[in-house]
Amino acid sequence: MDINNITIKNALEGLKNKDFSSEELTSKYLERIKKIDKELNAFITVDEEGALNQAKKVDELIQSDEDIFEEKKLIGIPFGFKDLYSTKDLKTTAGSKIIDNYIPPYDATATKKLKDAGVVIIGKTNEDAWGHGSSGENSDLGPTRNPYDLTRVPGGSSSGSAAAVAANECLAATGTDTGSSVRLPAAFCNLVGLKPTYGRVSRYGIISMASSFDTIGHITKTVYDNAKILEVTAGRDEFDSTTPDIPVPCYTTALNENQGIKGLRIGISKEYYIEGVDKDVESLTLKAVKHFESMGAVVKNVSLPHTGYAMSCYYILVPAEISSNLARFDGIRFGKTRDQFGNEAKRRIMLGTYVLSSGYYDAYYEKAAKVRTLIKQDFENVFKEVDVLIVPSSPTLPFKIGEKTDDPLQMYLSDIFMCPINIAGIPSLNVPCGFVESLPVGMQIIGPQFSEELLYKVAYKYEQETEYYKIQPKI
Ligand code: GLN
Repeated sequence: MDINNITIKNALEGLKNKDFSSEELTSKYLERIKKIDKELNAFITVDEEGALNQAKKVDELIQSDEDIFEEKKLIGIPFGFKDLYSTKDLKTTAGSKIIDNYIPPYDATATKKLKDAGVVIIGKTNEDAWGHGSSGENSDLGPTRNPYDLTRVPGGSSSGSAAAVAANECLAATGTDTGSSVRLPAAFCNLVGLKPTYGRVSRYGIISMASSFDTIGHITKTVYDNAKILEVTAGRDEFDSTTPDIPVPCYTTALNENQGIKGLRIGISKEYYIEGVDKDVESLTLKAVKHFESMGAVVKNVSLPHTGYAMSCYYILVPAEISSNLARFDGIRFGKTRDQFGNEAKRRIMLGTYVLSSGYYDAYYEKAAKVRTLIKQDFENVFKEVDVLIVPSSPTLPFKIGEKTDDPLQMYLSDIFMCPINIAGIPSLNVPCGFVESLPVGMQIIGPQFSEELLYKVAYKYEQETEYYKIQPKI
């Protein structure tokens, strides 16, 4: 088995045919981590002993029960978990100093579902502390590097998850996306990353960033793998009242070669093809659109007129929710003293407290909440005319480590094409669409609420013809 060229799909086949065991597979990834992670810094915690024990257990199950692959859909697959996911008895730091010795007494719902499906947790991945960031550089435990170019960022905040999957330190990883944090690192590391519809996957047990924006997504090499994981994690959870009781489709069933996309209506929104966007990024995105056209899709120009207000709206509402969520880490009941918060967390606590304070609440928070509705309506209106939107994921290529750390506004602008999606609560899938000077470029396929099945279908078709996922980093 060659872990450089393996996906969840063929790893499951290999396990089923007994070509290799989960223990062998897991050991390969652990070896790889030992070899390269000093340089990459994708993991905060590696649970070697736990992972090998888990792998041995699933191997016994596989030996004794032929049908186990039906019951446990991800049996034996080595995963990295973002360090915002509560994992029972396994240290969970949120990438922060404040809770750097916290051992959760329970599993997040998504963790539990994945464990029940048989995954092997290799370890916990690095991230911008509390999810605040676009580059991984806000981690209190040091930045992660991009496996395609070690002098560059892997994207954030699920920086370790993306770097680990791209560098073959695990087969898949979990992430969270409040404004970009699954999609941006996926884009910068040549991976597939889904930001699902708000409420599609339970937030219970995931350390909160901004509760009305947080979504729970996953990072993989291929579209099929991503769909397979969502089948496990999605659905109603009695511990999270924002998860509606909408049936979870078998997302992978829709993915087959024969299904065409003829007649698919793709929208191109002029607000996402603007001055200042890297020309190569823009042209690769438009090239992908042309590719869809050649497969029978119909392209239409549309407008989302309130897009220009999205960043301001996001950076009022999100810090407001952050300041409230981080108030519990008071140094008395939870965590270390508040002076241990990093600069970015402090900045957001101050911003959030300011926009919620009396006298400013109406001017900022309430106004931004109204703008949020307008942005959401923009999307509802265009989805009357088109089935999906295709836009660039990031306005730039993966940037150099240190390039934007002194300029928070420049850093915030990395999310300009992503945060409107979280404001609206709709799903968006990052899909690799090419390379510029050996650096990966991603595009987003965006759809209306609960259209994940369609997004996967569209992306799958494109991936089958382009196969960018086969281009590996040199590390
Ligand atoms: N970069 C965004 C921020 O810092 C997104 C964070 C996220 O999605 N967790 O707010």
